Amino acid sequence: MLISPWRTDFPALSALAAEGQTYLDSAATSQKPQAVLDALLGYYASGAANVHRAQHLPGERATRAFEGTRTQAAHWLNAASPAEILFTRGTTEAINLLAYGLEELFRPGDEIVISALEHHANLLPWQQLALRKQLRLVVLPLDSDGGIDPEQAAHLIGPRTRLLAISQLSNVLGRWQALSDLLPLARAQGAFTVVDGAQGVVHGRHDVQAMGCDFYAFSSHKLYGPDGVGVLYGRSDALAKLKHWQFGGEMVHSTTYQSADFHGAPLGFEAGTPAIASVIGLGAALDYLSNLDHAAVAGHETALHAKLLAGLAARDGIRLLGAPQLALASFCVDGVHNADLAHLLTEQGVAVRAGHHCAMPLLHSLGLQGAIRVSLGLYNDGEDLERFFSALDKALELLR
Ligand code: PMP
Repeated sequence: MLISPWRTDFPALSALAAEGQTYLDSAATSQKPQAVLDALLGYYASGAANVHRAQHLPGERATRAFEGTRTQAAHWLNAASPAEILFTRGTTEAINLLAYGLEELFRPGDEIVISALEHHANLLPWQQLALRKQLRLVVLPLDSDGGIDPEQAAHLIGPRTRLLAISQLSNVLGRWQALSDLLPLARAQGAFTVVDGAQGVVHGRHDVQAMGCDFYAFSSHKLYGPDGVGVLYGRSDALAKLKHWQFGGEMVHSTTYQSADFHGAPLGFEAGTPAIASVIGLGAALDYLSNLDHAAVAGHETALHAKLLAGLAARDGIRLLGAPQLALASFCVDGVHNADLAHLLTEQGVAVRAGHHCAMPLLHSLGLQGAIRVSLGLYNDGEDLERFFSALDKALELLR
């Protein structure tokens, strides 16, 4: 039996269990450890205050905690400096920030390269930029396992490539992309490299300097932190090329009615009051994660994933999408509509996701309208999977 020693750190798991719910949708959003709940309540209970503005005690305390998270996030990603960490609303906003912030550097006919498996958050901002600036959006094809083939990528990344944006770990196919092969291809052309770390960041520690990317984005809410905040890492020289994109409080050195002198990163890209409590909560999540035994977490996640794949493989008529390596599995069942199956799983208290997973072109390229996705957090255990499989068997009996 696979037991998660961390399960009891997450009060929502027992609350959900009391309602008969089995949570297997952590790739959509994660549950939060008590340490994060305490940090959120602690901030509000001890006195909310705006950051970077006031000199009073609560203001200083909030600013210290807020900037503390920036330092922690820099450590977590091994960024060279906290000034390379920008807080955004999430991965989606981080990538939109880039698509606007880099806009003036593109010329008609330049190419932006993404892959066929991108989440809409790493497709639509580039697609729309391409439309605005008459650029070409080049899509790297996948192999049958769901990985980007570096040989094909080598043909498609060329002298017109100005930016490569790919996800580290697919939210549908659960495969690590070969960043160490792909990013150098773009770098050799002098192109920007953007990594969508929304799923990847949750599993293991990632070193942005070793990765060699210009930008790396993730959302707190998938990494056991609160929603409403995300991180955009940018190497300092890459950040210096960004044009400002949102304008408001605390992002200028000075302004007149007619013109302004903006701060650089990070504050120049954080106009307006940020999600202070959420940033502080993210700090608590990073603290919590930093203190875990990483080898034990990785071992648990690997064993749980293997059990998930084995259970799916043991059942007839199940078509797995790609060859997932970690964290999740998406599948469909011959002759069964994914929405019907999802409905019957939901009725039995199993929380999985069904649909196109915000990767509509990928699903369509596989000839599908949707699929069921089971995704795992470090708090899931063998019993969760047993409940899922017994619900799946009952649902399939009814549907076939
Ligand atoms: N990229 C990937 C790979 C994702 O899985 C997600 C979230 N489903 C996002 C980007 C967008 O993240 P958010 O909605 O938190 O901005």
